Amino acid sequence: MSSIILPFACLLLGILPAPTDPPPEEPNRPNIIWLFSDDHSHNAISAYESHLAAAAPTPSIDRIAKAGMRFDRSYVANSICGPARACVLSGMHSHKNGVLDNGSKNGCLNYDRVTTFPQLLQNQGYQTAIFGKWHLKTTPQGFHDWAVLPGQGQYLNPQFYVPDANGEDGKKKVTFKGRHCTDLIMDMTIDHLEKVKDKSEPFMVMCQFKAPHRNWVASPELVDHYSKTVFPEPETLFDDYTTRGHAANVQEMTLANHFKDTDMKLRRSNQDFAHEDFQPENNELGKKLQQANLKYRSFYGARQAVYDKLKDDPKALTRWKYQIYMQDYLACVKGVDDQVGRLLDYLDANGLAENTIIAYSSDQSFYLGDHGWYDKRFMYEESFRTPLIVRWPNVVKPNTTNADLVQNIDIAPTLLEIAGAKIPENLDGRSLLPILKQENPEWRKSLYYHYYNYPGTHAVRRHEGVFDGRYKLIRFYGRGVPHGEYYEFYDLESDPKELNNLYGSSQHAALIQNSTTELERLKKQFNVPAKKSPKTPAKPPKKAPAVTPA
Ligand code: CA
Repeated sequence: MSSIILPFACLLLGILPAPTDPPPEEPNRPNIIWLFSDDHSHNAISAYESHLAAAAPTPSIDRIAKAGMRFDRSYVANSICGPARACVLSGMHSHKNGVLDNGSKNGCLNYDRVTTFPQLLQNQGYQTAIFGKWHLKTTPQGFHDWAVLPGQGQYLNPQFYVPDANGEDGKKKVTFKGRHCTDLIMDMTIDHLEKVKDKSEPFMVMCQFKAPHRNWVASPELVDHYSKTVFPEPETLFDDYTTRGHAANVQEMTLANHFKDTDMKLRRSNQDFAHEDFQPENNELGKKLQQANLKYRSFYGARQAVYDKLKDDPKALTRWKYQIYMQDYLACVKGVDDQVGRLLDYLDANGLAENTIIAYSSDQSFYLGDHGWYDKRFMYEESFRTPLIVRWPNVVKPNTTNADLVQNIDIAPTLLEIAGAKIPENLDGRSLLPILKQENPEWRKSLYYHYYNYPGTHAVRRHEGVFDGRYKLIRFYGRGVPHGEYYEFYDLESDPKELNNLYGSSQHAALIQNSTTELERLKKQFNVPAKKSPKTPAKPPKKAPAVTPA
């Protein structure tokens, strides 16, 4: 019976036809924009209200926080670039996703081993794309469109890998002369949004800045933005590592002794960032690069005389290094914040803000002179934590904060659940959706951390640890560690700067034992390979280290 005859026949029989089932309604799934910077400390985002907030505000990132949720206990599983990115993409700890460090052997994302959330979102009908820093060696998969920096990439005249079916590994290199990386990555993101904004499928775009990674070169327009600012010093700028173990004492990341000429931009050879194709007589690009170089040389060039004057006064020299470090680092942050503002304005102007989740995070935080350091790696708060701010109109209440223990392995399951995709059972992370909805879920009580990149740059020893929001136990182990293993223990309530290692204090023996047991429990839960486990439960050293007041 044809479809035309059927209703007529039904009418004749006095039967009302059953209404035709409407086609299954496409759920109104939100778009997702993942804004990710490199080495951006939460202390360099004014929404986090740190000692730097007044001197270096980030009004655009703060706009996201004011309209959304700021996570105050957001942590990483392994505080270094490539591994942190793999944790985000896979929802797994490093030992499971295979990206243990930044090295050539263990720094490569293996798609035979890991399925990433962009791949699963793509299967779920999302338009997926990534622009900017990648740092996982393998050609990106699971993206309809992409352009990624080779390795760390360059701030000025950056090269990008873009898809090329005929190229080696499906990619080719393109150079963007006369461009600064931060602005260019946002150009790519907005150009892409222009292409996908009217499609029926939702989009998921990862916009991943290189900034503010070392060696902190802001655009010529912003390089001297903070030239007149005096930044407040962190309380621990002159930390002497008393009570801390071997690793904190022998690292190679102090402003005092390890900050290089390239970091300070001393000497002319470290100031010519736009030197490629430097042919002002030939073309407009050459003139632009020449002007950029003049600006860089004029700003950085003044530093040598100050350095020469201070170089025999170690304390004054460290203070000065901290100031120029902050000038350069925070000018890069200002560049990121300006571009985030551009994106927010674009979403508003195009009616995309309502149905688009925006998350801002960084692969890890960073030492901004804290403990006298730059860089990251350690499980101490300044590099273990990472910023996480999420705006989602009509779901996340504006101007809220959250203090649950969340970790970068939670990002993949969160975005999968939001997209209506099945969360694979082998993920280590948990979806943050109930937290975003403020449903007060029963939540994890502790976090597992593991850093593997030794031997490596900055000489930070391998370590793992557990943190329950108050007490932190860290186990340093392996090569370069006296006797192969030792522990540190901190009470962050009485000692938020982690200056008093309490390991070995008989007064804290029960608490230390609790943390030791919890560390073992987490290692079992996450199937951490047994060879990484201590041979015996933690034993206090024979002689307890001195405990000094905070
Ligand atoms: Ca990083």
